[in-house]
Amino acid sequence: MEKKKIALIAHDNKKQEIVEWACHNKQVLSEYSLCGTGHTAKLVEEATGLPVKAYLSGPLGGDQQIGAKVAEGEIDAVVFFWDPLQMQPHDPDVKALLRIAVVYDIPIATNKATADCIIK
Ligand code: PGA
Repeated sequence: MEKKKIALIAHDNKKQEIVEWACHNKQVLSEYSLCGTGHTAKLVEEATGLPVKAYLSGPLGGDQQIGAKVAEGEIDAVVFFWDPLQMQPHDPDVKALLRIAVVYDIPIATNKATADCIIK
């Protein structure tokens, strides 16, 4: 059976948090096919040793690429640690990704507490 797919995205101030979360949940995550925006994917892959398919960096269109995959039914859940305290140049893309996840009714965890619920 094909592995379910989880997309991982974290804004810069949240990258440490997603790396720690991924390391903590490495065992469970190894049962999924992982992808993520450019820098997040690289950091998680380096820290966990799990393969993480990298899309473009978020500000360069990575969130939109992941949004497109959600629309195509290619992604089963998104862990998206966005930064509520800093303006992002790609804020419209951030909103678009949150929106498309709701349209297709897939789980999207925007903080650690919710990501913990999804992974259980
Ligand atoms: P990054 O993109 O993982 O390439 O830094 C994340 C984002 O800012 O959406």
